[in-house]
Amino acid sequence: MNNGMRVGLDIGASKVLGAVIEADGTVVAQSRQKTLPGADGILDSATTVLDSLAVALDGALPPHIGIGIPGIVDRDRGAVSHAVNLGLADWFPLADRLAGRTGATVVIENDLNAATWGAHVLSGADDLAYLSLGTGLAAGFVLSGTLRRGAHGAAGEIGHVPVDPGGMACSCGQRGCLELVASGSALSAWSAEPEAPAAVTLFAAAAKGNTEAIAARDRFAAGVADAVRMLGLAVDPAVIILGGGVAHLGEPLLAAVTRALRAQANESPFLTALDLPSRVRLLPGQVPVGAIGAALIGNAG
Ligand SMILES: [Zn+2]
Repeated sequence: MNNGMRVGLDIGASKVLGAVIEADGTVVAQSRQKTLPGADGILDSATTVLDSLAVALDGALPPHIGIGIPGIVDRDRGAVSHAVNLGLADWFPLADRLAGRTGATVVIENDLNAATWGAHVLSGADDLAYLSLGTGLAAGFVLSGTLRRGAHGAAGEIGHVPVDPGGMACSCGQRGCLELVASGSALSAWSAEPEAPAAVTLFAAAAKGNTEAIAARDRFAAGVADAVRMLGLAVDPAVIILGGGVAHLGEPLLAAVTRALRAQANESPFLTALDLPSRVRLLPGQVPVGAIGAALIGNAG
């Protein structure tokens, strides 16, 4: 039993999502738990998720656990730091600590890299950019089947490319960053109900014909299209996959972004020839892409 199966944990600021995964990305069991802050909180949340996965499997878990977590990750030491939203500032040896509790082999990876690898597994594409539209904006790359982390781990941080010299100050210390236009936080003014994500409220209002919402949606879609164009021109990947929390909007998001890409290409035979709209994809709804990637990434890249 457990042949080739692995466990993936996607640790985010609000929840830990765990899944037992087969080698082809098939999800065998899933569990989620609220993330408790700080080193002990993260360990406890992860352990609770693992316990409930073990129950779902009628006993023992596969002996390999892969973790995706925000922050700066040292894979060799199995440690993470600067995961500010998780209450972790200094280096924390997460892999060793969880291995000590479970007896499993534990590897850790930056959460965006893990999700990018998950997108590679699920899409079957060997040459892709994964554009994560969450609280922030960033991209990951699998190029010719290899994960691109970058010499300083900063590959794909396109959310902090300044696009508006007169724009707002960004938390990174620059001004007018793309993330301020094209991310979930850029839509926060539309978070009317605490339970409904701002992007959902905005797109629903736009679909009903609210002119202010239509303008805001189209501004947002144009920002995402800017990011797609940046990826297309810098890396020229075969496929660009929209992911992150905002991508749960599904087809309406894809439609708005491809419309914006076509508008950008209208006056440019050069851009038209690149045919970016046909390269943009969504993953099937609600798949735990981060946990799948964390489970299967191993030593890739
Ligand atoms: Zn910035």
